[in-house]
Amino acid sequence: MTLTGMADYAVPIIGQHEDAKPVVCQSCDTVSDALTIANSGYTCPGCESRICIMCGCTDRFACKGGCSWLNPGICSSHREELQEMARRVFAK
Ligand SMILES: [Zn+2]
Ligand SMILES: [Zn+2]
Ligand SMILES: [Zn+2]
Repeated sequence: MTLTGMADYAVPIIGQHEDAKPVVCQSCDTVSDALTIANSGYTCPGCESRICIMCGCTDRFACKGGCSWLNPGICSSHREELQEMARRVFAK
């Protein structure tokens, strides 16, 4: 089975990690988690920056080497990890 487009990324994240791990905002050090961030429209509840739910990077404080937004709340550093995750989910 092949996956195309957004389906690669749009998927699992929320709900997969029921033991939501803390996400530390790189802009303001607010600690939250993926669900809280999702409920805030994929922004940091502390500073309202767009934030990555996987690593806490923001527009102002991107990952080392730079990153961009794959999806709201997900930066390009996790592309491979997400594709792997999506593969596992859809394989069921
Ligand atoms: Zn913040
Ligand atoms: Zn990033
Ligand atoms: Zn990230």
